Order: sequence, then structure tokens, then C-alpha cells
Amino acid sequence: MTNPFDLSGRIAVVTGANTGLGQGIALALAQAGAAIVAVGRSAMDETRAGVEAAGGRFHEIRADLSTTEPLQAIVDDTVAHFGALDILVNNAGIIRRADAVDFTEADWDAVIDTNLKSAFFLSQAAGRHMLERGRGKIVNIASLLSFQGGIRIPSYTASKSGLAGLTKLLACEWAGRGVNVNAIAPGYFVTNNTQALREDPERSSAILARIPAGRWGEPSDIGGAAVFLASAAADYVHGTVIAVDGGWLAR
Ligand code: NAP
Repeated sequence: MTNPFDLSGRIAVVTGANTGLGQGIALALAQAGAAIVAVGRSAMDETRAGVEAAGGRFHEIRADLSTTEPLQAIVDDTVAHFGALDILVNNAGIIRRADAVDFTEADWDAVIDTNLKSAFFLSQAAGRHMLERGRGKIVNIASLLSFQGGIRIPSYTASKSGLAGLTKLLACEWAGRGVNVNAIAPGYFVTNNTQALREDPERSSAILARIPAGRWGEPSDIGGAAVFLASAAADYVHGTVIAVDGGWLAR
């Protein structure tokens, strides 16, 4: 019987794959059989080692995703290197923290440009290739802030709420043409993104106390949902945001 979660022969682009959730996702996709194109602005050596140890093929593309300038080249380079682009994971993202009354335009633009604008235009570039082939999977890394307000992170909440909306819009446009667009909403994970929260004893213990699973997530907790959404098992799943949050939203 064929394994519906098997990604053998599939080519997956993962942005921000050098660390954190992007690295966890790249490793899980490679373990499921996909070749990995790791995109980002930092060295990908650790991710390369993990992917190759899992028997996966690996290609690295250096790109700064704070502008749309490199996006088409990411798709072109992937297709030139591996022959196709089957899976896109829009994971790269930043966060800026300040009270809403003090929040600067620079912190607004930086977060929206990376988390939302580049994710949309990379999806557009990859989507054109996928639609032409009649097949593809796009997985956006959303957030609990796609559902909730949060505090002191106005541009982050706007970007992640926007990304959930775009996930649904793209699904509506592309579901009938063989391309699945979905998202994952991670809860609180131990990565660079949450370092400031984890260093604040009050916030850190308040967050932990509210997580039904009783622990923060680890990057290895996120990959299974990405493999599912990237695989044939999710062929009829469109426009959904799957929470991987230790039960946070259930509370
Ligand atoms: P992270 O360790 O800070 O990873 C963020 C990734 O995005 C890094 O690879 C980073 O590269 C990359 N990136 C940021 N700006 C970039 C740019 N201009 N060009 C290219 N790459 C860029 O944090 P993470 O938690 O793994 O974050 C991954 C995604 O999960 C983000 O979209 C984040 O919003 C989302 N998320 C995280 C949590 C959590 O609890 N950790 C919860 C919900 C959602 P560098 O290492 O070079 O900066």
C-alpha cells in the first residue's frame, strides 16, 4: 500500500530554515523523503547536516526576505537545480515588541514586509509554477496571533492575521487547480522568536501555566503537521489553519 505521507521525489522550499521552526520543518520534510531548498540570510550548515543525515538532497539559497527583490530568483533557482518546486513553506518571520502607543512605523514596516508581503509574493511566484503543473502545496507559518490579539506586538499580530486571511484567499483561488494552500499556527515554542518572553520570569510562567500540555513546544513538535499538509494525505484540505499549540486555543 502506498504511504499517503510519503514525500519521496518532492522538492520543498523552506524559508528561514537555518534555525527554530524552519529547521524543524526542513528536517521532518526530509525524513518524509523530500529534497530541501533552504532559503534564508544565515548559514544553513546545521540544517544541511541534518537533512543529509536523513538521506535527503539539499540546496541552499541565500536571500534576504525583507524585500520582494529575490523572490522570483528563489523559484527559478529551485527549478533550475531540482527541476521543479512542489512544496513551499513560508516560515521566515520576525517580531518587534513595544507598546502600541510607542510603536514605530519602522517596526510596522519591517514586520509586515517580511512576514506578510514577502510570503504573499513568494507564494505568487511559486504558485504560478505550481498552477502551470496543476499541482503544489503551500504551507504558511501563521501564529496564535492569527486568532488572538496578543500584547505589545501590533505589526506581528497584523501580519499573522493577514497571513491567515491570505491562506484562505489563495485556497479559494487555487483549490480547483491542484494547489493546496494551508497554514500552521504554532503555539509557544522554544526558539529565538520567543527568547524575550522566556527571559521574562513573569510572562514565561504565566504562559506555561496556560498551556494544557504543560510545556513549551520544541522545533521537533512542528514537523508532523507540515508533512501532513505537504503530502497527498492533505489533497482535500484547503484554506485551513492547523494549531500546533499544546492545547492553548482549546482553553
Ligand atoms: P526564529 O528562530 O527567529 O526563526 C525565524 C527565521 O526567519 C530565521 O531563520 C530567520 O533567519 C528568518 N528570517 C527572519 N528575517 C529574515 C529575512 N529578512 N530574510 C531571510 N530570513 C529571515 O523563530 P521561529 O520561532 O523559528 O520562527 C519561525 C516562524 O514561526 C516565524 O514566522 C514565526 O513568526 C513563527 N512562529 C513562531 C512561534 C514561536 O513560539 N516560536 C509561534 C508562532 C509563530 P535569521 O536566523 O538569519 O534571523
